[in-house]
Amino acid sequence: MPRARVVKVDPLRPDEGVIEEAAGVLRSGGLVAFPTETVYGLGADAFNTEAVYRVFRVKRRPLDNPLIVHVSSLEMLHRVATGVPDWVTRALSVAWPGPLTVVLRRSPSLPAVVSGGLDTVAVRCPAHPVALRLIEALGRPVAAPSANIAGRPSPTRAEHVVEDLGGEVDMILDAGETFFGIESTVVDVLSPRPRVLRPGPLGPEELEKVFGTRVDVPPYARGVESFAERPPSPGLKYRHYAPGRRLVLVERGSCDDSSYLEFLVRVLESRSQETPALLASNETSEEVERRLGEAVVYLKMGSRENPFEIARNLFGSLRSLDRCDRVSIAFSEAIEERGIGLAVMNRLRKASSERVVCA
Ligand code: AMP
Ligand code: MG
Repeated sequence: MPRARVVKVDPLRPDEGVIEEAAGVLRSGGLVAFPTETVYGLGADAFNTEAVYRVFRVKRRPLDNPLIVHVSSLEMLHRVATGVPDWVTRALSVAWPGPLTVVLRRSPSLPAVVSGGLDTVAVRCPAHPVALRLIEALGRPVAAPSANIAGRPSPTRAEHVVEDLGGEVDMILDAGETFFGIESTVVDVLSPRPRVLRPGPLGPEELEKVFGTRVDVPPYARGVESFAERPPSPGLKYRHYAPGRRLVLVERGSCDDSSYLEFLVRVLESRSQETPALLASNETSEEVERRLGEAVVYLKMGSRENPFEIARNLFGSLRSLDRCDRVSIAFSEAIEERGIGLAVMNRLRKASSERVVCA
């Protein structure tokens, strides 16, 4: 299969020639992977039905799992959504560009395949100069899910896109590592009160400021509830972000910090014959390393004091797990479910094949 053209581009001052070339690829029905402030997206002209079908095909994404439509302005929003309430427009004029996706009524002119056949549409305006310039240069909305094979961890570097889809996209814009490293917050704004469908970089506290009202955070937003059919957001049906190894999430339950650490050490010790891996904060990794040394492979995700750092390294760590040949089972620490930590725990629950609770 021909390899995609990978073109390096400055994240803050993207070369106009490169942007024009990428817009030309989209205009002629091609697929371009591009960086956003959350993760890399796999873009197609949202109004080109064939190109949108191709996005589903190369990602191996089920056709009922809708894509997010990316716009470069509030004006462009009205080409893909109808009946946008005033309170939503006001909130978006504060929060956009940024990692906030809203679910609205789909405009009948937007191909239904973009929304997996639903009469709603998820829209966002990304805060990344490369993404924004690309959409502006095309002059049309871009449908873009994360640029990974369905079910795999989302790509936070162009290398991850090459790994998953290098042979099947037309062009990859490489602007280095993405900023948040975790997908946008998705909020349903069709009910009277905003409801989080997928937690992301904007936590509930920030959302309440943006919307000026209470925001619902249902159990499925934490990843503790799963659905067989008809979930409020189609993506909730599917397992996600999964590494190719057994991953056990060690939940905190009602344990305090010191009994949680004891529990984690005991769990890892019981599997020491198998050289388990541990995905954890720097602090926890160092504590465990003092106790168990080289019996464990450590994948450090960042300081416990800085959940943004942990979020940014999460998907890369899940991918590097697949490259640890001697590891057959991995354990992950649970972090505090506040702010972006809510999104990290949602992704860990969806990535893990099993969960044990500290007792
Ligand atoms: P991704 O594009 O891979 O970041 O995933 C997009 C997420 O947004 C999926 O989990 C979808 O379920 C969700 N989503 C997209 N469109 C809609 C919609 N119209 N209604 C509810 N959820 C949506
Ligand atoms: Mg995705």
